[in-house]
Amino acid sequence: MSTVATVSNETFNTHVSVLVVGAGAAGLCAALAAKEEGVEAVVVERDAVPSGSTALSAGLVPAAGTRLQQAKGIADSPQLFAADIQRKAKGEADPAVVEAVAQGAAPLVEWLADRYGLPFEVVDNFNYPGHSAMRMHGLPSRTGQELIDRLRNAAEANDIVILTRSIVDRLLADPDGRIRGVEVVHGDGAREYIGCDALILACNGFGGNPELVRRYIPEMADALYFGHAGNRGDAVTWGDALGAQLSHLGAYQGHGSVATPHNILISWAVIMQGGVQINCEGRRFCDETRGYSEQAAEVLRQPGGFVWNVFDGRIAAVARQFEDFREAERAGAVITAETITDLAEAMHVPTTAFAAEWNEVEKLKSTGGHDRYGREFLASQTCKPPYYAVKVTGALFHTQGGLAIDTDGRVKHKDGTKFPNLFAAGGAAAGVSGPIAAGYLSGNGLLTATVLGQLAGKAAAKLIPGFGTLCSGRDGI
Ligand SMILES: Cc1cc2nc3c(=O)[nH]c(=O)nc-3n(C[C@H](O)[C@H](O)[C@H](O)COP(=O)(O)OP(=O)(O)OC[C@H]3O[C@@H](n4cnc5c(N)ncnc54)[C@H](O)[C@@H]3O)c2cc1C
Repeated sequence: MSTVATVSNETFNTHVSVLVVGAGAAGLCAALAAKEEGVEAVVVERDAVPSGSTALSAGLVPAAGTRLQQAKGIADSPQLFAADIQRKAKGEADPAVVEAVAQGAAPLVEWLADRYGLPFEVVDNFNYPGHSAMRMHGLPSRTGQELIDRLRNAAEANDIVILTRSIVDRLLADPDGRIRGVEVVHGDGAREYIGCDALILACNGFGGNPELVRRYIPEMADALYFGHAGNRGDAVTWGDALGAQLSHLGAYQGHGSVATPHNILISWAVIMQGGVQINCEGRRFCDETRGYSEQAAEVLRQPGGFVWNVFDGRIAAVARQFEDFREAERAGAVITAETITDLAEAMHVPTTAFAAEWNEVEKLKSTGGHDRYGREFLASQTCKPPYYAVKVTGALFHTQGGLAIDTDGRVKHKDGTKFPNLFAAGGAAAGVSGPIAAGYLSGNGLLTATVLGQLAGKAAAKLIPGFGTLCSGRDGI
């Protein structure tokens, strides 16, 4: 069990300026930003090759007002983006942090593109629920694997040391919360005490810790965890021991569309383009377009804990931009049929009930209108044969609660004052989704990982002796 210890009887083997725990998107953006300020940054990563949940994601970063959007004539602004985040979070996200990430996202995307050559594109052929503009920025493969690989290459090209196969086991701190360093266990079992001037926790949340999930998010205690197994909630455990403020621990990113039993993400584009979800009784059960996060628990509540995504060939063509969908097709997770009757048979759902639901939806599309759950259908979403279906379940992707921070990623004490040299970003910090799963707006995960990573890296660099000073203790702000 990871804990926090004071340093009185510890000897540091070495000392670095900015130490980062975790080499996901948050940690690597933080290290790049610190290094750019002329400060040494070292990242400690438990895996042999950095991947994290970042590699499992679609790598889509939402940003408002980028030149990539402007080139495509997409009108957007950080204000509109911030309003979308708060609308989804029912106004319960920290307004200052929302403002910081909404303002910082466009500069972040352009920074990664211009300085480190990440070839971002705007996804402009479908939109995610709750976004008022097309603002998802993705790499050509639309994979998080490409994002993490490109970030790692950028870090290596800039001489940032990543200590791999090394787990931070304990934080070493003074009684007032000033971090002195960390205790690391390397892959060969050797222990090392690394001192630092500033520490950035970028080790994501507690999705990989069943005990913490059961305690804080009981509705997902038995759900498939689809994130990185190494995210064991160390930031929350350490923060708790240090007396940090923990916020919105019940919040999470779920997803109601993971192909089962194949365990492959099926893009929510299949729903947003006009597809629906049908349970094993052949029935729809809610407005699927509210959001994929809250849909995870909704799907798990259906008989058997699974449902079917049903759509057509036009929608499948949109989904095929994602490698995951192509993989699902290769794995045989996607079934097709020329008629709804044949599809119902292949899905083993009652034909009459399913056909009635399907016909009602298609009629609503042609006339334009809302269904009994309030979902709006458009004529452009009409489906034609052949029809497609994928059996899916609900999964936990990552936790959104964590250490309360300021707009520099600086961790707060319970009384709202700040730790002198402790930062958190990405899944380690409290996100901008409010207290529950329904507050998660698509992209909030990588938004807070990348933007807060960059902001924390910059702010941590400023603490390094000789750089100039930010503070020398609890500043009471
Ligand atoms: C399937 C899936 C799809 C997703 N799609 C999207 C999307 O398209 N857009 C979006 O915005 N978000 C998406 N998300 C969420 C997004 O992936 C995460 O919010 C984001 O990657 C978090 O980044 P991070 O750097 O905080 O964590 P991670 O990328 O998980 O990195 C944390 C790192 O810390 C390391 N670590 C943990 N503990 C220790 C320790 N004690 N010592 C050393 N190292 C440690 C881990 O090994 C890991 O490498 C998705 C998530 C999943 C699972």
